[in-house]
Amino acid sequence: MAITVTNELCKKYNVTTGKCTLGVDNKGALATTFGWRRPNPRWASYDLVGMIRYHKAKSPISWAGKHVKGHQDDNADLQDLDEWALGNIAVDKEADMEMNRFREAEPGPMMEGESWRLRMDDTPIAGNIERTLKHRLGLKSMPTRWKTLLNLSDDQWRTIDWEVFTKTHDILPDWKNIWMTKHNARLGPVMTNMVRRRHATDEGCPNCGMREDTDHIFTCRSTVSEAIFRRQKEILKLHLQDTTSKQMQLIIMELVISFHEAREPNKNKS
Ligand SMILES: [Zn+2]
Repeated sequence: MAITVTNELCKKYNVTTGKCTLGVDNKGALATTFGWRRPNPRWASYDLVGMIRYHKAKSPISWAGKHVKGHQDDNADLQDLDEWALGNIAVDKEADMEMNRFREAEPGPMMEGESWRLRMDDTPIAGNIERTLKHRLGLKSMPTRWKTLLNLSDDQWRTIDWEVFTKTHDILPDWKNIWMTKHNARLGPVMTNMVRRRHATDEGCPNCGMREDTDHIFTCRSTVSEAIFRRQKEILKLHLQDTTSKQMQLIIMELVISFHEAREPNKNKS
């Protein structure tokens, strides 16, 4: 909170004019503090940016922003860096320590310039408010909603580890989750759906000409699709080599390949 400290110093020593340059390592935050962008509750640091703007507007002196590339010590010696880069590295370390303290402690009294605090079941909701709220509200009813959406039988539904499912869902970016939800609910923009919605007249796959329904996305055998599948298969294989046992690798790879080839998995292979 460089601005708050500077404002306090100005007050203490009766400084009423002057200019200060603030180094920021995040271009988005720089644009919001010194440019035209308005804070949006979908941002991860919405509450912080709001506070920075408040204190900047209140400051007796004028402020300018300067972009400083973060973590410059990752690929350079400290003695080769300028004071901006060094300052950024020092502040970054302090901020990490402060964040750890903050996580452990109960949030203190409201700070000046803080807009408002939202709590749910006695834990604070901060950052991207919309996403966190939706997530927390949806968590309880989520397994039942997926059951209907994916048309799962009671048995299938019980075999799913919903805790793991939720974790996976949380680490993926929104666009991937949206794509998977649409795909699994068979609502994606495949040609059969496009024809049904009157956005197209031909149900043929643009790559191979066969009827393109939801399953066809992963089973298409055109040259283009085969090349993509081969590439992704290699990426998956390398990922599995690093993260799981040989046995698990074989099972997952066989499952993926059998799905692509539209056949039952070969149990002997695993
Ligand atoms: Zn095709």
